Parts: sequence; C-alpha cells; structure tokens
Amino acid sequence: MKAARRPLFWYGLAMWILSAVISTLLIQLGALIMSDVPTAGKRIAKDDFVNTAKLDTAASAIAQNETLLDRKSGEIEDARFMLRSRELDYANQRASFENWVKTRSATGSNSQNAEVIERAQAIELLKLEERKAARQVEDLQQEVVTINRSLKDLRGQRTAILAAANAPFQKAQRREVLKVFLFRLALTLPLLLIAGWLAMKKRQSTYWPVYRGFIIFALFAFFVELVPYLPSYGGYVRYIVGILLALLLAHFSTRGMARYLQKKQNEENRPETEKRKAIAYETAIKKISECICPSCDRPFGAPKNRKSVNDAETKVDFCVHCGFCLFNSCENCGQRENSFYKFCGSCGVPSGTPATNPQG
Ligand SMILES: [Zn+2]
Ligand SMILES: [Zn+2]
Repeated sequence: MKAARRPLFWYGLAMWILSAVISTLLIQLGALIMSDVPTAGKRIAKDDFVNTAKLDTAASAIAQNETLLDRKSGEIEDARFMLRSRELDYANQRASFENWVKTRSATGSNSQNAEVIERAQAIELLKLEERKAARQVEDLQQEVVTINRSLKDLRGQRTAILAAANAPFQKAQRREVLKVFLFRLALTLPLLLIAGWLAMKKRQSTYWPVYRGFIIFALFAFFVELVPYLPSYGGYVRYIVGILLALLLAHFSTRGMARYLQKKQNEENRPETEKRKAIAYETAIKKISECICPSCDRPFGAPKNRKSVNDAETKVDFCVHCGFCLFNSCENCGQRENSFYKFCGSCGVPSGTPATNPQG
C-alpha cells in the first residue's frame, strides 16, 4: 500500500524526466565542444621517424645491384652458350683429326709431317678457345656471387634503418596518447569534482533535479569521454584506475552505511513520540504495509506472509526488534489499525494518541 499522494508520484517522474533532458542537453553540448577542440591530436606515422636520406641511398644501391645482377645473369647465359659451342667445335675437330691420322697410318704415308703438326696446332687453338670460354663463365659466376653478397648486406642495412625508427615512433605515440588523455582529464575532472560535491551537499536542494542531470552528464563524460582514452601502458593503468574506483566506492558506501547505522542508533534511543514525528507519514504507511518497522527498518512478522499484514502469524502490534508501536486499536470501536493512520478505517473517528510501548 502506498500512502504517497498521486501528484507526488507524477511530480517525481517529471523531475526525473527533467534530469534526463538536462543531462542529454549537456552531453550534446559537451560533444559539440569536444568536436571543435583538437583532442584527437595529429596523426603520427612511422615514416616520419625513418632516416629518409639513408633509406633512399640504400634503396638506390639495392636497385643498382639488382639491375647489375639481371645483366650478369644474361651474360652468363650467353657465355655458357658460347662454351657449349666451343666444346662441340673442339670435339668435332678432334674426331676428324683422329680419323685422318688413322687413314694416314693405314696408307703408310709419312711424308706429310708438316700437315700433321699444322692440324694438331689448329686443334690446340680450339682447345684454348674452349678454355677461354670456360674461364669467362667462371668469372661471371664469381661476379654474381659478389653482387649477391652486397645485395644481402644492403637489404640488411635497409631493415636496420627501418627498425631504428621503431623506438622513437612508439615513444612519440605514447606521448601523444598521454597528451590527449591529460587534455581530456583537464576537461572532465572539474565536472566530476562539481558532480561529487553536488551529490554530497545538494541532495535536499530545490534544484536537485537539475543537479542530478548535471551528475548524470558528468558520469557520462567520465565513462565515454575519459575512460576509453586512458593510456594503457600494457593494461596497468586501466586496472589501477579500476581498483582505485572500487576502493573509492567502498570507502564512500561504508561511510554512508556507518552514518546511516549511527543515525538509526540515535533514533532508537529517542522516546517513541519523538521517533514518530521524525518519520514521514507516507514512508511509515508504506513500510508498515510491507512489514518493515519504520523506526528500525527491520522486518517484522513471518517473511512468507509479509504480503498481508493482517494474517494471524504477523499480528504483531509492536516491533519485535525495537518495541515501536506498529498497530493499535481504535479508542471508539476497537478496530485494529496501522498506528500511523490519522482516522479509524472502521468508524471514522480521529485516532487519539497511539499506544506507546510502556518500555519505549
Ligand atoms: Zn523496530
Ligand atoms: Zn473506530
């Protein structure tokens, strides 16, 4: 049973809508400001940190060597072709010479020694040519090996030049991330501080719905505009910030709870007539209907029957924990009623002073 007047409910709802509207407007205003402010910083590219002069030198040297290598490969092909044809020339000439020599010994003519010498010399010459071609091939192969070696060196140099850019690039990146974060922190931290102060000091203010809208906005700014921009440093910062937030939350909730318990303790020590005045009418009606003592906030009666206060098991007139008077009887007709009711629900006579616990 709710004792709050209906307009109060609508008023509360309207105030929440007001808070939501205010926070939405502030969020959009904030987004507009953020889009106009260069928070993203300049883009950093790795190329900015490469020694381009050195890299160009290495690249052109590599290109030169590659062209040279191509040319030498072609030359080797030609030289090998030449060698093969020289080998064939020599082999043919030698075979025909041997045949000729055999024929000559068969016919027994020894008179042409000069011709033998001449032909043998011609064959020697061919052999010489063949050796020259072979040497040509070997020389070219040696050159190719040298070129390949220097190409490997140059490529290693190029890799080293590119790798040298890594460290300064990462450093600049980290610095940029930190800069962006600090800038956002500078914008968000004041909002959070103001929101925290409002939440602690201005709960009872007439303008609380407006302040509440501001607090929602500050929380949104914190989680959307700041948290995603936390520098990671391998995840350390995120976890540390998370732990700090949890500690802060634990600190404030424990303190709030301690304060609440202290308040309740003080209330319980006061005389019951004073306690009654301190409890709001609507709150008291609502709590008793839910089987919660409005004085000590502890449940009374059997939990399974808490829905209906008039069940036999829950017919407790005084709080079993603090002795607070929950139900009393009408002085006129004797009907059992919630002790906070201002009129008897049965006969309509205004309720008198509620019976108080003799010990309370
Ligand atoms: Zn109680
Ligand atoms: Zn009555």
